[in-house]
Amino acid sequence: MAERIIAPIADRDSAPYWQALADGHFKVTHCNDCGHWTWPPRPICSGCHGGNLSLDEVKGTGEVFSWIVVHRSTSPDMMQYVPYVLALVRLDEQADIYIPGRLISDKEVHRGLKVRVVTEKITDEVGDLAWTTEGVPL
Ligand SMILES: [Zn+2]
Repeated sequence: MAERIIAPIADRDSAPYWQALADGHFKVTHCNDCGHWTWPPRPICSGCHGGNLSLDEVKGTGEVFSWIVVHRSTSPDMMQYVPYVLALVRLDEQADIYIPGRLISDKEVHRGLKVRVVTEKITDEVGDLAWTTEGVPL
């Protein structure tokens, strides 16, 4: 379990998402009517605005769409990683879903870099994610 001073705060809509990450699963809200994936978690589908949703496991793979290099962190928990890349990753499941996370890689970051998710348990109820190139085919 990771020591964190600052951790995500789960609410009614996001609690199952954070719980899944704490349990080592990467799940995203999925519409049972139109098939659209919605992130961040919310009770309404961003595709059809319906409410017939479930939290389904995704492959956890994608590619870097954009990124910044963090040289000064405002979070005490992240200072140990400075400088680090904060990547915006487009999931393989859907072209318009982007999820931010720290990139763990010794490769030079570029648009289209293939990554996979890694989960981190913060508490028994809350986890977080990062992205890595480790184990990802070129
Ligand atoms: Zn929908």
